[in-house]
Amino acid sequence: DVPHRHLLPVSTASAGRRFPVGLRRPPLRIVVTGGAGFVGSHLVDKLLARGDSVIVIDNFFTGRKENVVHHFQNPRFELIRHDVVEPILLEVDQIYHLACPASPVHYKYNPVKTIISFLFYKTNVMGTLNMLGLAKRIGARFLLTSTSEVYGDPLEHPQKETYWGNVNPIGVRSCYDEGKRTAETLTMDYHRGANVQVRIARIFNTYGPRMCIDDGRVVSNFVAQALRRKPLTVYGDGKQTRSFQYVSDLVDGLVALMESEHIGPFNLGNPGEFTMLELAEVVKETIDSTATIEFKPNTADDPHMRKPDITKAKELLNWEPKISLREGLPRMVTDFRQRILDAQS
Ligand code: NAD
Ligand code: UDP
Ligand code: UDP
Repeated sequence: DVPHRHLLPVSTASAGRRFPVGLRRPPLRIVVTGGAGFVGSHLVDKLLARGDSVIVIDNFFTGRKENVVHHFQNPRFELIRHDVVEPILLEVDQIYHLACPASPVHYKYNPVKTIISFLFYKTNVMGTLNMLGLAKRIGARFLLTSTSEVYGDPLEHPQKETYWGNVNPIGVRSCYDEGKRTAETLTMDYHRGANVQVRIARIFNTYGPRMCIDDGRVVSNFVAQALRRKPLTVYGDGKQTRSFQYVSDLVDGLVALMESEHIGPFNLGNPGEFTMLELAEVVKETIDSTATIEFKPNTADDPHMRKPDITKAKELLNWEPKISLREGLPRMVTDFRQRILDAQS
């Protein structure tokens, strides 16, 4: 290990450098904002498993201590309860910036929409600004987890990174879409203006163990409903499409992007495309073939279709998802079944 590595010049401390074959690179110190959340906690597992040190920054808005509790005895792990809207001083090599009030319940259905929308802006704009300011000061590499929502209700299908999107700036979901678009803008401005090493991932719908059970996303809703023997709620006619990626594929993509020489943006998603009715069928096959479907009105501005073009990530990151919906869903069901049982007992 190299003591006080954070005091060394960026070129020595950064992750991108190559080491002679056979020599292990020194462990990195890595911040994961939102690391107590669904995706973040899986990322933390991977980074610790490969020998690096991880500091999680999370305000537990949608994240849970349970997601990272298995690392509490690990001396290479630290958890800080902190809101990224406030400045913070740390010395690290890499920053994975995931913090975001990401659950759709919060922006689509919440009665106090203005407050929630305010939270989105604060986190995506001020939070991202602070993390970029931190990266600039210490010479760390910064990765933003953006979203396929930047494409809005897309007029191009599948979506390539070159597509500029079709976002309603004044709609109910625009606080999320526009918040992330602004975060992307800030990221590129810090890169161009302050020479910060940046990476941008545009994440498509992702599912897996540790997802919030009641956060309103379609996969978690259907799985929890089937396990609780309730009807699966399909919004609208159920013909809208999404592409569902298993969380370990996403985490592999995020790490490949961080370690690469490419800024992005990169689509990270599984190109397998399903209508919501087809998804309901897969959930029925996996959990309970007798489950019923209940149609409910859809929310405003719901994108009609979404499917990533991942040619760029395949070519430049040598990454593509490995786990199909039919393989990934059972792994999530095991976790949900246990958590629903625990909550009942
Ligand atoms: P999540 O809600 O499980 O995780 C987000 C984490 O950020 C939570 O632990 C939450 O407590 C924390 N957080 C929120 N606001 C914060 C703040 N101000 N300060 C500190 N911590 C804060 O959601 P997730 O699905 O794990 O999403 C992770 C990232 O990936 C988000 O940026 C999200 O926008 C992006 N993303 C996810 C998906 C998906 O399908 N899961 C799709 C596209 C983009
Ligand atoms: N910032 C931070 N930690 C740091 C450095 C900066 O949280 O180690 C915050 C800082 O408070 C500021 C933001 O990041 O609000 C942007 O910083 P920058 O230096 O780019 O802008 P300035 O402080 O000059 O406005
Ligand atoms: N949806 C649904 N039933 C639910 C929850 C969501 O049919 O119980 C639909 C929703 O209208 C949307 C799709 O599933 O068309 C994906 O919704 P989600 O909130 O999971 O993700 P996003 O809209 O952000 O892609």
